[in-house]
Amino acid sequence: MTMMNVGRPTRPEGDVTASAASLTGGRGLLQDEALIFELGGWDKTGVDLPAADADASDLGGLVRDDLALPGLSEPEAVRHYVRLSQKNHAIDLALYPLGSCTMKHNPRLNEKAARLAGFADLHPMQPEATVQGALQLMDRLAHWLKTLTGMPAVALSPKAGAHGELCGLLCIKAAHEAAGQGHRRTVLVPTSAHGTNPATAAFVGYSVAEIAQTPDGRVDLADLEAKLGPDVAAIMVTNPNTCGLFERDVIEIARISHAHGAYFYCDGANFNAIVGRVRPGDLGVDAMHINLHKTFSTPHGGGGPGAGPVVLSQALAPFAPAPWVVSDGEGLRLQEHDIGFGRMSAFHGQMGMFVRAYAYMLSHGADGLRQVAEDAVLNANYVKARLSGVMSAAFPDGPCMHEALFDDAWLEGTGVTTLDFAKAMIDEGFHPMTMYFPLVVHGAMLIEPTETESKAELDRFCEALLALAAAAKAGDVERFKGAPFLAPMRRLDETLAARKPKLVWRNDTEGVAPAP
Ligand SMILES: *Cc1c(COP(=O)(O)O)cnc(C)c1O
Repeated sequence: MTMMNVGRPTRPEGDVTASAASLTGGRGLLQDEALIFELGGWDKTGVDLPAADADASDLGGLVRDDLALPGLSEPEAVRHYVRLSQKNHAIDLALYPLGSCTMKHNPRLNEKAARLAGFADLHPMQPEATVQGALQLMDRLAHWLKTLTGMPAVALSPKAGAHGELCGLLCIKAAHEAAGQGHRRTVLVPTSAHGTNPATAAFVGYSVAEIAQTPDGRVDLADLEAKLGPDVAAIMVTNPNTCGLFERDVIEIARISHAHGAYFYCDGANFNAIVGRVRPGDLGVDAMHINLHKTFSTPHGGGGPGAGPVVLSQALAPFAPAPWVVSDGEGLRLQEHDIGFGRMSAFHGQMGMFVRAYAYMLSHGADGLRQVAEDAVLNANYVKARLSGVMSAAFPDGPCMHEALFDDAWLEGTGVTTLDFAKAMIDEGFHPMTMYFPLVVHGAMLIEPTETESKAELDRFCEALLALAAAAKAGDVERFKGAPFLAPMRRLDETLAARKPKLVWRNDTEGVAPAP
């Protein structure tokens, strides 16, 4: 048998590594890493299959031989991806203080449960009689989500928070249309909202109007009341909000919105701050997504697969998307058809995330979940208290909820910006906090420690920030302007990268004949 060659001569001639900037080709054992196309060659492959019989192809003249896929041996491929993974920050490496993102530890117990063959090896089209256990888990998860939120219905299928927002607004739109209120075309969103809120409203076809914020970081009730009217379909309010503050007037917000015929969509991304303590249903919420990867500790999987179930009020429940689990005496089955506005996804949602979230709920219990919220809030207030005085808290009066928000007033006159400060944190071994969000706070730095950090780790973090702050105030500008000095990559032009992304790798050795 001959070895099969699948690679192509992809590395530009004379170019030894992708990055010539490093003297050593890496830091210590961390090597510089070229693109996989640059590592690959045409004389290698990780597989050794018998050569295909030329007559066996059904593709006729459509066979392509210019794919330029990189050819790598198995150890080369494995090492490439492991080295890339070492360049990523991860919650398993250290504190990940991104505000609003809730980067909490992902318990290994969840992983163990999700890998049980009875859950992991299911196919979504298996006969229902063979997946009764999985359906029961979905039913139990739904029960917990409804109980914790005080809401009568839940749609499990949305795949993320933003997808949940879409689901909620589609339910609201369907409900308005059913009630002859389809002319309502506006969604009100506070200035401090997460970008997904106005984006979702626009995606559904609504126009977006902003609600002003009070000086103490809450929804301005007078402005809300002035903007509510017969054209408003819904308000979208995050609670606790993205300034890390509880909306003190949330019941009044719900009341006046309902009085004007609008629904109250609550962005539940910050539910981790109140789970077990406050039930959004009691506050008058009509729809709320729950990011299982935030509140219920499932992994933030690089954009997916995630899960963002949406709880719905009595008024919206009839418009929920299919499917949902029902029990009809013969066992559990999925109600699939003829209801709501249709479906959010091809199948039933992310089973692996359901298992992880349910394992988290059961391992904590109701009392443990309440303590999760309490400890998350305690940790954030500890950070706020330790850093206040040196750094300027955006809303200094009173405690915060699960995240501590600072502005850049304290950096005035130092020549150091929020971005510089965040980049210098990388050199100190800490991932930056969320920067420049929410937009209503100048040079915002939003820190969310979560309940899974110990006091020792929070102290280490605060001390590093205080030392950096002292350096900024002492005029050590160079330390900030050039940062990060110690990361595999130095400061990148993020605007250029966003505006002109290079999404295609081009083979510089064009003209070289493909492998025989
Ligand atoms: C994370 C987040 C979202 C979006 O959730 P995804 O699961 O990332 O789609 C929306 N709003 C707020 C306030 C968030 O923090």
